[in-house]
Amino acid sequence: MKSVMIWGNLASDRTEEQYPIINVCEKCFKAMNVNNKTNPITSELDFDEYYGETCEYCQKNKSFEEEELLVFLK
Ligand SMILES: [Zn+2]
Repeated sequence: MKSVMIWGNLASDRTEEQYPIINVCEKCFKAMNVNNKTNPITSELDFDEYYGETCEYCQKNKSFEEEELLVFLK
């Protein structure tokens, strides 16, 4: 799980709407990085639980993702 800053509504007066910060799981993060032209990420941040514990795109929970990774590593 990562926190990423993405391109939002640049016409907005509010920074948090211009560059919203969302949490994404590793899988969705990789998918977002596949095509540079459509990559919405402006910067990659350390995970911050302030933004929630689920992936913005697939709604995967942080602890569920960690369990999944553990199974994968076995
Ligand atoms: Zn995801």
